[in-house]
Amino acid sequence: MEILHVGAECYPIAKVGGLADVIGALPKYQNNTENNVNVIIPCYQTAFRLENDFDCVHSGKLKLGNFNFPYSVLKETSNKLGFNLYLIEIPELFDRPDIYNYRDDIERFLSFQIAILDWISEWITMPDIIHCHDHHTGLIPFMKKYCPKYEKLKNISTLITIHNGLYQGIFTFNKLYYLPEFDLINIKELEWGNCINSLAAAIKSADKITTVSPSYLNEINYSDNGLETLFQRVRDKSKGILNGIDTDIWDPRKDPMLESNYSISNINEGKQKNKEQLCSLFNMDPTKPLFSFIGRLYNEKGADLLPKVVPSVLTTYKNEINFLILGYGDVRIENELKQLLDEYKGNYHLHIGYNEELAHKTYAGSDFILIPSRIEPCGLNQMYAMRYGTIPIVRRTGGLKDTIIDFEDNGNGICHDQATVEDICDAIQRAVNLYSNKDIIDQIKIKGMNTDHSWEHISQEYIELYNLIIAKRHEN
Ligand code: ADP
Repeated sequence: MEILHVGAECYPIAKVGGLADVIGALPKYQNNTENNVNVIIPCYQTAFRLENDFDCVHSGKLKLGNFNFPYSVLKETSNKLGFNLYLIEIPELFDRPDIYNYRDDIERFLSFQIAILDWISEWITMPDIIHCHDHHTGLIPFMKKYCPKYEKLKNISTLITIHNGLYQGIFTFNKLYYLPEFDLINIKELEWGNCINSLAAAIKSADKITTVSPSYLNEINYSDNGLETLFQRVRDKSKGILNGIDTDIWDPRKDPMLESNYSISNINEGKQKNKEQLCSLFNMDPTKPLFSFIGRLYNEKGADLLPKVVPSVLTTYKNEINFLILGYGDVRIENELKQLLDEYKGNYHLHIGYNEELAHKTYAGSDFILIPSRIEPCGLNQMYAMRYGTIPIVRRTGGLKDTIIDFEDNGNGICHDQATVEDICDAIQRAVNLYSNKDIIDQIKIKGMNTDHSWEHISQEYIELYNLIIAKRHEN
C-alpha cells in the first residue's frame, strides 16, 4: 500500500508539540515490505532543513486565487528517518523559522495543500491513502473530492486524524476564491458557523475520522469546541485510536540526551544521577521530591493554574519540595510564572522556551510530572514520563483518562477530577505523602516503565482502518 501522511509538523524536522512526535513515529512503524510510507510537510527554515541533503524531485507553480507561487518538492536523501520525507518548499510562505502564528497562516497552509494535490496529480501511480493530520491539511479531502482539477485523484481514500479539535483553520467566504474551482452545489461541505472551517470540511469529506484517544472521541461530542453536533453526526465513521510513542527515541537505556542511562534494573540509581544533574542546573536540592511541568503554557493545558499552584504548594511545603516548569505560550501566564522566581528561588525554576534536550532530562530527573489539562486529546507527556520511571499526576480527561489509573486503584499514577488549584494541590499532597513510602513508589515507577505504549501494534490499527476504507471504496 502507498501511504501519504500530510501534516504541519514532523519530529525531528519541525516540532511544536505531540503532532510532530506522531508524524515522526507512526510512519516509521508502518513502513515495511508491504507498505511504502511517505511524509509530506512544509519546508520551514529549521536546523534539519539546513543540515541535511535533499533532492528536488518536482517543481511547479501553484495558484492561490490571483496569486501564483512557485514551489518545489524536496526529498530527503539519506532515508535515515525510516520513511520517505518530502518537504514542500514555497519560499514566500514557508521560508521562515516558525511553524505557526503568522498573519497569513491560512494562505500558507492552503497553498501547501494545493501544492500537494497538484504534485500528486502528476504521479503515474496514485497513492492508496492520504492520511491528513489536523486542520492544516483539512481541505485536502474536500478538494480531492469536489474540485474537477483533481479528478485523477478521485479513487484515493482519505482519513483525517484530529490531534486537537480546538484549532480548526477558520476563514471567511471572502477567501473562497483561493480554492480551485468546484461546483457550488457542494459549498455546504466547507461551511461551519457561516465560515469556511477546514477541520469541519475534513470531517464532512474524509472517508474516516480518527481522534487520538477513545475518550477524546466521546468528549468532543459534548465539550465546548463548536463542532459538537457535527461530531455527533459523523459518529459512525469515527474511531478513537490511542497514540503511541517512539520507544526507540524515548528510551532511558540509550537516550543520548541523558546524564546517565538506566533501565528498570538500576532505576533508582539511574534516576538519582539524572536528578542530581538536573537540579544542579537550577540550584535545587536533589534530595527533595521534584515536580515538573513540560508543555505549552495555555489554558487548555491547565497552565493558567500553575501561578497559583506553585506558591500554594511551596508555602505549604516550604523547603521540602522543588518545582520545575518548562514551556512557553500565553504571555500572561509566562509573566505570572516569572514573577514567582525571586520569592521561591532554590525551590522553583522556570525555563521559558522550547528545549528538546531539557525535556528529556526533565522526564528522567523528575519524580512527578504534572499534567492538569482541561483538554487533552491524547497527551504524550504521561507516556514519556512513565517510560522514564516518573510518576504522572493527571487530570482525568481525554487520553490521560485512557492511560493513567490512580495508584489507590492499583494503577500507575495519581489522578484528580477537576482542573482547579485545589484539586491539583490535593494531588500534590498525595504525591508528597507517597514520596516517603519507598516500596509503593518503586512499584508505581516500575509499573510505568513496564507499560507498553509503543507504536508497534497501534500502527497496525491504522493499517486495518486504511484497508477497510479502501475495500469499501472498491465495493462502491
Ligand atoms: P501537545 O501536542 O498538546 O502540546 P502532547 O502531550 O501531545 O501535547 O505533546 C507534547 C510534546 O511536546 C512532548 O513531546 C513534550 O515533551 C514536548 N514539549 C512541550 N513543550 C515543550 C518545551 N517547552 N520544550 C521541549 N519539549 C516540549
